[in-house]
Order: sequence, then structure tokens, then C-alpha cells
Amino acid sequence: MTDIIGRVVIRCPETGETVATVLRLRPSAFEALRGEYGFRCARCGKIHHWRKEDAWLENALRA
Ligand SMILES: [Zn+2]
Repeated sequence: MTDIIGRVVIRCPETGETVATVLRLRPSAFEALRGEYGFRCARCGKIHHWRKEDAWLENALRA
């Protein structure tokens, strides 16, 4: 099974839109995430904090 690196995405609580975080991970690394992460949202400009439970890996692979 190919282990593809994907962008970690969450749903922006301000706009309801999907937004990519700065993390790019293999599925195995994503499953191992612990704790809380923060990033500046590209949609609304605010800092969002998220946990693995809030996020998922984007399937589409873009360079
Ligand atoms: Zn946002």
C-alpha cells in the first residue's frame, strides 16, 4: 500500500470552509498525532487550534 503524503485540512469555524494547515503528513504519521496544533487560517486570517479529531488528510495530491 502506497503511503502518500497529504495536506492536513480542517474546517474553518469562521467560514465553514475547508482549509489546509501547514502540516503535510503520511497517513501513518497523521494517526500518530498527539496534542493541539495552531496555524493562521488562509480563509479568515485568525489563528485556529485543532486536534487530530478535528482534521483529516486531503486525498488530492498537489505539488
Ligand atoms: Zn478560519
